[in-house]
Amino acid sequence: MTKKKTNQLEQDDKKYIWHPFTQMKDYSEETPLIVEKAKGSYLIDTNGRRYIDGVSSLWVNIHGHRKKEIDQAIRKQIRQVSHSTLLGLSNIPAIRLAKKLVQIAPRGLNRVFYSDNGSTAVEVALKIAFQYWQQRSKPHRQKTRFICLKNAYHGDTLGAVSVGGIELFHDTYRLLLFKTYKIASPYCYRCSLKKKYPGCQLACLNQCEKVMEKNHHRIAAMVLEPEVQAAGGMLVSPPGYLKGVKRLCTKYSILLIADEVAVGFGRTGKMFACEHEGVTPDIMAVAKGITGGYLPLAATLTTEEIYQAFLGEYREFKTFFHGHTYTGNQLACAAALANLGIFEKEKTLKKLQLKISYLKNKLKSLTSLSRVGEIRQKGFMVGIELVKDKRTKEPYPLEDKIGIRVTSEARKRGVVIRPLGNVIVLMPPLSISYREMDKLIRVIYESIREVTED
Ligand SMILES: *Cc1c(COP(=O)(O)O)cnc(C)c1O
Repeated sequence: MTKKKTNQLEQDDKKYIWHPFTQMKDYSEETPLIVEKAKGSYLIDTNGRRYIDGVSSLWVNIHGHRKKEIDQAIRKQIRQVSHSTLLGLSNIPAIRLAKKLVQIAPRGLNRVFYSDNGSTAVEVALKIAFQYWQQRSKPHRQKTRFICLKNAYHGDTLGAVSVGGIELFHDTYRLLLFKTYKIASPYCYRCSLKKKYPGCQLACLNQCEKVMEKNHHRIAAMVLEPEVQAAGGMLVSPPGYLKGVKRLCTKYSILLIADEVAVGFGRTGKMFACEHEGVTPDIMAVAKGITGGYLPLAATLTTEEIYQAFLGEYREFKTFFHGHTYTGNQLACAAALANLGIFEKEKTLKKLQLKISYLKNKLKSLTSLSRVGEIRQKGFMVGIELVKDKRTKEPYPLEDKIGIRVTSEARKRGVVIRPLGNVIVLMPPLSISYREMDKLIRVIYESIREVTED
């Protein structure tokens, strides 16, 4: 694209777009990166510069950009129909995808409710959990509240924000939110109980149990991100945590909602993160990777038992009165089917295991940097927490914008990443090559060094 056209786009971008999660004052002072095309692990801007897509276009891309099978599946579907409603009608890709999701989901989840993004998938989960108890016998109708975790992120709509626990994102809206029971986050590097795994014997679960023991008659469900609290800073839960939560939920008749929006579809090395601990939640929300990073689509899966609680005569009004206009969109479902087909055809998860170990080894090179406090990894989710002082773990003040400064250094070196506060996030497409991983880690090393070493 000519320099002139690019300049015009840059001006119009700043003039017309309000970017998400972005301080537009800062943005307006920088040169925007305008993506024109992409291929495999690379994004290509209007100046023809190539960048490794180090966060999979915000955690969604799986098999790389312009993946032949997904491109074709969408084209093929366009020749049939692009969208018809799922309210009272059905369609072929939505049916096929629902069947496929049930086949690959943790055993026992066998009903699929579609929506179009992670936040709505969570809203659906919360409303289903709430309504489930309302439609049971009278004493159960007091079960209206939720347990959630500090540092949790479940999306930006108000229900999802209510069960969120990231002060920076969520505090502003406090007066708009419903009340929850918020318990400690399994953030071992900064354990709120000042204990160490495994000596702690998961003491954080005792706190969870105390809340349940006292309030279970008022609690509809507990919601969490299994294995990794992603937006909270890639906080990897200690082994046994998820299983422990499941055990407590069962003991106190509390539904377990697993938000697999970030961790689902291979991200952690297994198709779904719950598989790491053999847990079947009562409700599971998926989105991000479901279409391989092509189109917005989400789903909320439930057990048969929950589904059955919504059946009745129309006049009983047990219907789940909820739905989004583009629910079950054919193009998105066709993309998702192609995405899942590639997992099988290319044995994506099998090949991923070696890449995960390779990445783990490569990441070790970063430990020598004096401001790298902790490197957390679960599969292809990585968080590198930068600290002012390694020994005391003193964090950088947010206003230092340390993460932002590292990511802009990385951009100069041909890597696109996005930080979470002081945590540098790496989430490359599962299809990234070994050479591309080398480059990614080299650039991250150089960028952190440039910004943090005196
Ligand atoms: C991204 C995310 C969401 C929200 O998804 P959107 O598609 O952005 O609405 C919800 N839960 C988790 C765990 C996420 O990472």
